[in-house]
Amino acid sequence: MTRAADFIPDVQRLLAERGEPAYRLDQAYKALTNSLVRDWEEVTSLPKGLRAALAAEVPASTLTLERHYRASDGTRKYLFHTHDGHAIETVMIPEKKRRTVCISTQIGCPMACTFCATGLLGIKRNLKAREIAEQVFVAARDIAPERVSNVVVMGMGEPFLNYTETLRALKVLNDPEGFGLAARSIAASTSGLVDRIRRFADEPEQFHLAISLHTPFEEQRREIMPVAARHSIPELMSAARYYVDKTRRKLFFEYTLLAGVNDQPEHAAALSKLLDHPLYHLNLLRFNWTDTGYAATSKKRAREFLAEARERGLPATLRPSRGQDIDAACGQLAAKDLRGRPVVQLT
Ligand code: SAH
Ligand code: SF4
Repeated sequence: MTRAADFIPDVQRLLAERGEPAYRLDQAYKALTNSLVRDWEEVTSLPKGLRAALAAEVPASTLTLERHYRASDGTRKYLFHTHDGHAIETVMIPEKKRRTVCISTQIGCPMACTFCATGLLGIKRNLKAREIAEQVFVAARDIAPERVSNVVVMGMGEPFLNYTETLRALKVLNDPEGFGLAARSIAASTSGLVDRIRRFADEPEQFHLAISLHTPFEEQRREIMPVAARHSIPELMSAARYYVDKTRRKLFFEYTLLAGVNDQPEHAAALSKLLDHPLYHLNLLRFNWTDTGYAATSKKRAREFLAEARERGLPATLRPSRGQDIDAACGQLAAKDLRGRPVVQLT
């Protein structure tokens, strides 16, 4: 299958049934991913009859924008409904010259990290590649003529539990014939699925990776992130080493500072021992409020923690939190009307 056929299999089927020439598929693919059309009527390069047939059978947009929020700091949040009535969220974060879009890969998340609002939801289903990429297309249209400069896969869901569709979407975002964003401007974040970290390292594109670590201590990691029971920290570090050895790219470790839990000097000391490769980089983030019983580390203590890590030679940054007044910050995405629905396990 070609990239276009993988991305829009329903369009390909319809074109095949009608006996359309092969180049029609590429035209449709480019219209959606490069011209960012949301309606087949806009694609004047396709014959009128074909446009009507497409419009009747395969909608050009798989997501419906339900609500659109703007935070006081310029962050924007989009609440979408999928064709089967689920809600997902996407965030656009402006920062100097950057316009970063943070996308979701699952409806909810089954990983159940104890501090994360998405984790409280459980999982309804994986998103399709098209649903993943379309989030970027909508944000790109929204901010035009400004351009999307970066995409981070850090919204709802664990992208590596939906590996195939997520990678399909990222490849379309990167494709010069598609959305055309440089691979190095695209980053995925995982809670630490080791086999998939290796697989990601083996991908030909130079996408960036972040691993959510949150504590250097084995027992504590199991308490705050259930995934840690599946993969120990040494297993995780071995996959991390594979990634940097294979790609020679920087590897980011995400660390959400939870007051009194993982923000003590011994954590900083153990982290600097554990993250022992020059390509490793620690990304600190203060906890954003969610109804999970945790509290945020003070700004002062967060800066001290940063200094403690740096003094020991660990490259580290403290990321500012964005979009909190519209619940758009990391870990706050809960597409609220999903709450209370039953949890569905992934098979
Ligand atoms: N599921 C992936 C990516 C989405 S979450 C992952 O877990 O890596 C993006 C980042 O936000 C992760 O590092 C996650 O641990 C962090 N996060 C989750 N809840 C948070 C919260 N309430 N405050 C701050 N960061 C949070
Ligand atoms: Fe899922 Fe990431 Fe939230 Fe954990 S932090 S529950 S993996 S979205």
